[in-house]
Amino acid sequence: MGKIHELDTVLANQIAAGEVIERPASIVKELVENSLDAHSQRVDIIVENAGLDSIRVIDDGDGITSDDVQLAFRRHATSKIASRKDLFRVQTMGFRGEALPSIASVADVELVTAQAGQDAGTQIHLRGGKTVEKKPAPARQGTDVRVTDLFFNTPARLKYLKSPQTELTRITDIINRLALANPAVAFSFTHNGKEIFRSAGNDNLQQVIAAIYGIKAGRKMLPIAGEDDDFKVTGFVSLPELTRASRQYITLTINHRYIRNFELTKAIIQGYESKLMVGRYPIAVVNIDLDPVLVDVNVHPAKREVRLSKEPQLTKLIAKTIRERIASENLIPDVSPDQ
Ligand code: ADP
Ligand code: MG
Repeated sequence: MGKIHELDTVLANQIAAGEVIERPASIVKELVENSLDAHSQRVDIIVENAGLDSIRVIDDGDGITSDDVQLAFRRHATSKIASRKDLFRVQTMGFRGEALPSIASVADVELVTAQAGQDAGTQIHLRGGKTVEKKPAPARQGTDVRVTDLFFNTPARLKYLKSPQTELTRITDIINRLALANPAVAFSFTHNGKEIFRSAGNDNLQQVIAAIYGIKAGRKMLPIAGEDDDFKVTGFVSLPELTRASRQYITLTINHRYIRNFELTKAIIQGYESKLMVGRYPIAVVNIDLDPVLVDVNVHPAKREVRLSKEPQLTKLIAKTIRERIASENLIPDVSPDQ
């Protein structure tokens, strides 16, 4: 008799969760990205004890039909892509159909959802990957997901978590980046009953920057705009006098997806030429709009890194756009007292 057998679904999902759901901040990221994909205009994030006690994300998006609710928790089940062709031009944050089953396999999940115009919504409760209950719910449009008892069945994962303060810092960071990438969406973030962050959702990026980095910093930001045949670069970069001691304050987004990319970050810094002191970095939010065929987001399960075609061309455009903007700022003459 052979020794090979297929793993049961819950176990397979827990293995997938190892890559997608590392910590509370990963859950926040996945849930908020689902809200954004569902065209939400408002996303409220309510966290208790750095996510160790509870993570709740409430949106006013499209919602899920009663028939689809259980499918949403099945691995590789998604409404976002259907064919190989779609995979090479992904327009949404999600597409792998892994987040909800992964989260549900390592926690307790309550999801309440309804679509516009439905008489009733649906409520589902899963624990450790198994459905506990599914029943009708009030018809409030949108989705409300609550995750508790995180990693109750994966003790090694639980032990691996850092202090609540560190986990909270990571949650705050990802919410900040998502808000910077989506200034047209109104975000709120409440931790242990205290409001940490709120954005208006009026598509004013400079206001979101001010809400995160302070009003003074918000005033020292320059709008940028640059374009070539393939890319459009927009956003805000700080005046050379406003710097920080790390690159952490640089946010890059591609078609509203927050990404990390060493070469593009370097291009932003290069745009300042010699105007930054050694070891100092600007505050910047740089958005790149491009045809999705030029980017492969299917590199890492958490999609933090992406692969770009024509990356050298894009780095040149970013550096040039910032260089010219900073230079034009310097053209404004100093008004000296004897004039
Ligand atoms: P993916 O986002 O990759 O499709 P997920 O496991 O995160 O996979 O979600 C599965 C499906 O559940 C999504 O494709 C979507 O149809 C639905 N869904 C999840 N969250 C929401 C939400 N907040 N609003 C509407 N639909 C949602
Ligand atoms: Mg998703």
